[in-house]
Amino acid sequence: MRLVTPTLRSKPDAVAVAAVETARSALLEDVDAADVGAHLGHVVEGDRIVTHLFACTRRGYVGWHWSVTVARASRQKTVTVDEVVLVPGDEAIVAPAWVPYRERVKPGDLSPGDLLPVEEDDPRLVPTYSFGDDPLDADEKAQVRQVARDLGLGRVRTLSMEGRDLAAQRWYEGDAGPSAPLALSAPDVCSTCGFLVRLAGPLAEMFGVCANGDANDDGRVVSFDHGCGAHSEVQLAKRHEPQPVPGHVYDTLGADELEVL
Ligand code: SF4
Repeated sequence: MRLVTPTLRSKPDAVAVAAVETARSALLEDVDAADVGAHLGHVVEGDRIVTHLFACTRRGYVGWHWSVTVARASRQKTVTVDEVVLVPGDEAIVAPAWVPYRERVKPGDLSPGDLLPVEEDDPRLVPTYSFGDDPLDADEKAQVRQVARDLGLGRVRTLSMEGRDLAAQRWYEGDAGPSAPLALSAPDVCSTCGFLVRLAGPLAEMFGVCANGDANDDGRVVSFDHGCGAHSEVQLAKRHEPQPVPGHVYDTLGADELEVL
């Protein structure tokens, strides 16, 4: 069992440091004696404030410590107990750190019917048009949206530069980029493949869509320097071509020849 060494955050108060039995007595008022082990050490929390640590021997709490904090008021000769708690030590089994729901959702987690709204200020999106500086209520905003629709301004928000860069990076570094195992052993790149469909807009400089139904990436965005063995111009080497099938030694389909024999 690891011994907790005293910290030197503040000058240790001799009375508080020596109050091990006071701390243990306070602990035993709340906890069964069978669950309390040896005194492991103390931590100086501040002026005349010391925390004593005791091993926890309760089943299922390996590596946990009972922590009893005592304090001595100025010009007093005895300590009072401030707090008795069970705390995890370095070797304790504890739950993993909390991850907010929004950060836990990964691509592919959505099931039919699930909704995953984006944040109002999601940096990946920018408004297509502005509502102006005047504060507007919901009805007035709806009117602005209607006018924008009538004028053909399109969607309420579009991809921001940041959103575009993030998508490009993700695609390029993923299975559709040049470092995917499929691409590393491909005979040629997508940019020379007849199955590549061109995109429009800034992402068209690096990416297209694969339209080869026989390829793993059919219907997916691929980088120009991605590639695969289903490239439109791929040719089999002579030694890979199927060997011609030799003629039948005995033709079971030709009834006449059978009679001749
Ligand atoms: S078939 Fe292969 S090489 Fe051609 S576009 Fe699709 S992924 Fe690229």
